[in-house]
Amino acid sequence: MERRQHAVVIGGGIAGLAVAGALAGRFRRVTVVERDASADGAAFRAGVPQSRHLHSLMGAGQRALDDLLPGFTDGLYAAGAVPLRTPYDHLWLSPAGWCHRFPPSHTVPSASRELVEWVLRRRVSGLPDMVVRDRLEVTGLVADDERVTGVRVARRDGSGAEEVTADLVVDASGRRSHAARWLAALGHGETGTTLVDSRAGYASRCYAVPEGFADEWRVISIQPGPGQPTRGGALVQVEGGRWLVSLYGYLGDHPPTDEDGFLAFAASLRHPVLHDVVRDAEPLGPVHGFRHMANERRHFEDLPRWPQGLLVVGDAACALNPVYAQGMSVAAMTARRLRALLDEGVDDCAALQKETAAGNDRAWRIAVGADLAYLGEAPVDERARREAGRMGRLLELAMVDAEVNRVFFDVMMMLAEPDALATPALAARLAQGPARP
Ligand SMILES: Cc1cc2nc3c(=O)[nH]c(=O)nc-3n(C[C@H](O)[C@H](O)[C@H](O)COP(=O)(O)OP(=O)(O)OC[C@H]3O[C@@H](n4cnc5c(N)ncnc54)[C@H](O)[C@@H]3O)c2cc1C
Repeated sequence: MERRQHAVVIGGGIAGLAVAGALAGRFRRVTVVERDASADGAAFRAGVPQSRHLHSLMGAGQRALDDLLPGFTDGLYAAGAVPLRTPYDHLWLSPAGWCHRFPPSHTVPSASRELVEWVLRRRVSGLPDMVVRDRLEVTGLVADDERVTGVRVARRDGSGAEEVTADLVVDASGRRSHAARWLAALGHGETGTTLVDSRAGYASRCYAVPEGFADEWRVISIQPGPGQPTRGGALVQVEGGRWLVSLYGYLGDHPPTDEDGFLAFAASLRHPVLHDVVRDAEPLGPVHGFRHMANERRHFEDLPRWPQGLLVVGDAACALNPVYAQGMSVAAMTARRLRALLDEGVDDCAALQKETAAGNDRAWRIAVGADLAYLGEAPVDERARREAGRMGRLLELAMVDAEVNRVFFDVMMMLAEPDALATPALAARLAQGPARP
């Protein structure tokens, strides 16, 4: 990228918008190309079917978005996001038992995915020299022998096609990205893929928070555990006086999408509290299902020859089982890393692709480590095995010990490295063994 005149981002989802924020000011012009029509406000759109389901933003993702687009969190609260104090506002039944009600250690905004995206989009659209073009579908890359020089787009109103030239194209088009196919057609070979599928499935529904609700908690999370190893569910308060309830099941034990089946599944969790709360609440729409949640990593960074002028980020490069709520945060952190690398003068796209791919490693290890355990398979490597064992023991302690709980949340929210859980002080606490939850 000797010239930094124009960058094109494919996809106006969370990864695309975060990357657009990262490229702003580093390229003379940035264009985001999105297939869907935009709505005036937070609304469902067909290109992001997952937005009907619970989307928790981790503390690290929130920070990354604030770094990229200052004022993001304030904007999210102004648009109606609900502050969640962790763990104070949570009724949390973990695999190791109930979590004590400890004083708040973090406050994070809780909102629907649609609101998060809309607030991001407004911020990004307001940046100088930024254009967000809707109803344009990227149908292919334009390239010469050395580099990608732009994209081919088709207008979705049927009025024709065009080529948009760019010094950098960033594919952030999500799980259904065509990047691997496009690269193969350009002669770059087959992209290797790792797939780990614990056959998880979601079903979600919104309810009105009942009038006079005492607001003694804002989250209920019942995780799979002893007695009910495959089923879990969460209820989270979001904007608009709504509870968003997502039920999930592993190994094909999927929650049904009919009214009775949904409630019966909720009643079958390890504790009936979530069911008892929603049973009498007013539903605000139908139940929606989602089934394609495998961890899928495309190893673009391993291709022997990588074209200058192209990067692939977000779910297009590394899609994670959403039960662990990492995708948006990883996308935001990748975008921030990309900005830092560009600011250091790294211009070689092969190096940028490798560096941004490395940023997915930790989230990948967590999601795949947990899913391999569901599948009854051994962890991918020794480090993953050690981390899983330590996290299991620490979880028990985190349920009953305020200090451990705080550090545990830091690590869960990716605000601290897992090493924060390996200090001598924590080792001494662990050696004492957990008190009873
Ligand atoms: C059920 C479910 C629940 C989830 N829960 C969480 C959670 O709790 N926390 C969390 O952090 N993450 C969660 N995620 C993951 C999260 O949705 C994604 O990881 C994150 O949003 C990053 O996605 P993305 O922007 O890469 O892709 P997407 O969100 O899929 O966006 C891709 C965009 O590209 C557009 N597009 C696609 N093809 C083209 C094309 N050819 N031309 C132009 N535009 C195109 C699409 O219309 C879309 O707007 C969940 C995912 C699922 C499936």
